[in-house]
Amino acid sequence: MNRNHSLVVKIERIVCATVFILCLVLTAAGAAMIYSTSEIGLKKEIQICARTLNNIYDSEFHGDFSDSTGQLKKGGFEITNHDFERIVRQINCVDDVDFTIFWGDERVFTSIRNKDGTSAAGTRADKAVVDKVLGEGQEYYYRRVNINERYYLGYYIPIMNAQAQVVGMYFAGIALDSAMENTVLAMLFFALIGLITMWIFITVFHYHVKGLTDDIADINQYLEKIAYGDFNAEMKQMNKQRNDEIGEIVRHAEKLCVNLKDMVENDPLTGLLNRRSCHNKLEELKQQDTVYTVVMGDIDFFKKINDTYGHACGDVVLKNVSQLLKDSAEKYSGWASRWGGEEFLIVYPDKNEDQVRAYTEEFMNKLRKMDFEYKGKVLRVTMTLGVSACENDDENSDKAINRADKLLYKGKRDGRDRVVFNTDNNQ
Ligand code: GH3
Ligand code: MG
Ligand code: MG
Repeated sequence: MNRNHSLVVKIERIVCATVFILCLVLTAAGAAMIYSTSEIGLKKEIQICARTLNNIYDSEFHGDFSDSTGQLKKGGFEITNHDFERIVRQINCVDDVDFTIFWGDERVFTSIRNKDGTSAAGTRADKAVVDKVLGEGQEYYYRRVNINERYYLGYYIPIMNAQAQVVGMYFAGIALDSAMENTVLAMLFFALIGLITMWIFITVFHYHVKGLTDDIADINQYLEKIAYGDFNAEMKQMNKQRNDEIGEIVRHAEKLCVNLKDMVENDPLTGLLNRRSCHNKLEELKQQDTVYTVVMGDIDFFKKINDTYGHACGDVVLKNVSQLLKDSAEKYSGWASRWGGEEFLIVYPDKNEDQVRAYTEEFMNKLRKMDFEYKGKVLRVTMTLGVSACENDDENSDKAINRADKLLYKGKRDGRDRVVFNTDNNQ
């Protein structure tokens, strides 16, 4: 069978695809959850930081910001970089939070560094920030603000003067790359767990499906052998003991085999082996080099029974004679078969004509004394038998059977109800 068409491959493909998609969705959902949870936490953090910066400046320096001489002042106090650094150190924040004080859109005091390590003071705010915070005078949280080619989570608080004009901004923010470092690690870890789970699941599943499809393959082989006439085929013991649907199939297949074997090998009326299976058994003997003796038998004047008592009565006689033949053959390790009509072939493996002489005598005596009852009437029958052992130069069983057949007809000619032996040289 083409591997692509095999059941195990089909089931595995369906399951692997489903598990893969499931793990992918779960991993993506888990990662998104981790990201959004940590982003919410960071947003709160930088919001508090920006407000704290605002509060400290307002409490230390009362009054409005102004910049009349190029020197930033608050309430008349000069605002210095030294004060800024001191205040920033005072704020109890997570690591890596940067602070800035804007005058207009220009960074006047900032902890943000340029790529070359110098202070980013003098650089300007992003246009979106200017529009929102300076333009509308509202606090604003940016999830992705570009500062010096680096993306930040940033919180902006507008600085108002007494005339409610926005003159600058406080900023607290954290660079996305360092803020999300742990989050990315957590996401990768989550993805790894997802992959490992998927792998374990698929491995366990493969093991079970393989076991299942192996069992189905075993049943298939069994049925294939039966289909080609091998009724001695066997299935794995494990399969027979299963109590699931496969176990049911196995039991039905075995029942089917028994019934089919019976139909193919046995004669439906008498239950004896039919001619074909008798031939097969003789072939087996030949292959095993086993010697044997055959007895060809025919019921005497059987037509008369049919004509006198009816066909159904003839059937009853056939069945009873068959049973007697069977018992007498099996008593000496032989078998009886229905050769056709009211003719029978009995085979005795490992027995010579002399041994069979005693068996047939015993049988004939029993038959002569046997009463057949049918619809209140009692009748008796006799048989004529021809006996021949297979000889060394017989190339097949037909030779011995033909000899026995001829002897049988000699017995008929000589008056019936008798046994004729080849060794008696009666031909
Ligand atoms: P002989 O002693 O020479 O053997 O005579 P006979 O009457 O037994 O032989 P013959 O060949 O003339 O008749 C055999 C009869 O057996 C004819 C046939 O209808 C009958 N017969 C064959 N098969 C069956 C069967 O299955 N059932 C019944 N009832 N009769 C059968
Ligand atoms: Mg007959
Ligand atoms: Mg006949």
